[in-house]
Amino acid sequence: MADTTKVPEVREITRIERIGAHSHIRGLGLDDALEARQVSQGMVGQCKARRAVGLILEMIKDGKIAGRALLLAGRPGTGKTAIAMGLAQALGQDTPFTAMTGSEIFSLDMCKTEALCQAFRKSIGVRIKEETEIIEGEVVEIQIDRPATGTGQKVGKLTLKTTEMETIYDLGTKMIESLTKEKVQAGDIITIDKATGKISKLGRSFTRARDYDAMGAQTKFVQCPEGELQKRKEVVHTVTLHEIDVINSRTQGFLALFSGDTGEIKSEVREQINAKVAEWREEGKAEIVPGVLFVDEVHMLDIECFSYLNRALESDMAPVLIMATNRGITRIRGTNYQSPHGMPIDLLDRLIIVHTQPYDEKETKQILRIRCEEEDVEICDDALTVLTRIGMETSLRYAIQLITTANLVSRKRKATEVNMDDIKRVYSLFLDESRSSQFLKEYQEEFMFNEMASNDNDSV
Ligand code: ATP
Repeated sequence: MADTTKVPEVREITRIERIGAHSHIRGLGLDDALEARQVSQGMVGQCKARRAVGLILEMIKDGKIAGRALLLAGRPGTGKTAIAMGLAQALGQDTPFTAMTGSEIFSLDMCKTEALCQAFRKSIGVRIKEETEIIEGEVVEIQIDRPATGTGQKVGKLTLKTTEMETIYDLGTKMIESLTKEKVQAGDIITIDKATGKISKLGRSFTRARDYDAMGAQTKFVQCPEGELQKRKEVVHTVTLHEIDVINSRTQGFLALFSGDTGEIKSEVREQINAKVAEWREEGKAEIVPGVLFVDEVHMLDIECFSYLNRALESDMAPVLIMATNRGITRIRGTNYQSPHGMPIDLLDRLIIVHTQPYDEKETKQILRIRCEEEDVEICDDALTVLTRIGMETSLRYAIQLITTANLVSRKRKATEVNMDDIKRVYSLFLDESRSSQFLKEYQEEFMFNEMASNDNDSV
């Protein structure tokens, strides 16, 4: 091919999407009767566990339960995290969802229980309701004092005839913007929202269902049916208890919310906030939205954390706690006692435990197919079959990892589709866990700090 005709390769920079381990999961894949569809919303199989989590989802949506805890227990790679992510997607934006791993709390520069407390409070929403007044009337006259002169600061006056009287309103920039947007003229019937300065012409509905205020808190506008504008409108903000804590903590200030560096929050601040929120609840100004706290690898927590969880779950402002573990009977961190899943019996006793099962060949193939689609990888049928066999004999995760690498190999040979040879190639290049262990056993003498002989009896 002549070099002169070669067009330089342009990298597609507009579509840089990061594909995460669970980005193919879009929900729990349940039908209206809460039965799990075999393949739906990126989810495959594991129907019992998905249905169980679906029931929890309904309870959360009803907003009735607090302080319930669920443990997803099963072998590695059986979709425990995937199910929790599915739940997060299904909850919608208004319900707080916080995800963390057990080991995370040991790496933050605050004490363990403070880190857990913050995670708890990040998972509890406070829905604050405000009523704003709406004035309705006929426009008599509009005067704009300073027409556009480049400053952008137009102000003016609006004479409005309401049912009772004719009133003159001084308009700020916000109202002028509203006026021009709505193309308001004398004779129009309009409404003014006193809190936001928003002007709407009669006959229109408030279409803005969602908005964000300066703090990033969500504001919901109640929809008015066409032509039937209401005099009073309810504005709802949902913030988390943790956000309220940080905003009110003198040492931090709300900017800490963006940096994440919130430090420890004094217990007096929390007590005051709890009291204030309780007051708002009594006055009907606020309601609690229990969200979800997901703790993956929960066996990494220690006995102090478990005892904190036990107590924290008793509060009526506790979120729904979902935990996951792949451990069997093992030592509880911080003690010398063994217990199922490495968790104390008194905590286990409070939990609903759901087991996840290993996948069969058909399900493994389906998950791998979905992952190929997610990663935009074309794969031929026999290559997918080989990949499935690898997944069954090694692990689902290992097989998922081979997709990207096999795709790179196929692109190197300018093919558009991954074939069986590409899979074989990457299988020989990258070892799975058991081949790697085998290698270690054979060549252990050549590695440093080899402790195999002295630790022969230890289970890993
Ligand atoms: P571990 O105990 O090691 O943390 P896990 O049970 O949490 O494992 P996941 O991380 O959820 O396993 O699953 C491994 C991979 O397989 C992820 O990419 C996940 O999205 C995908 N996966 C697992 N189960 C399903 C499923 N039922 N449907 C679709 N994808 C799944």
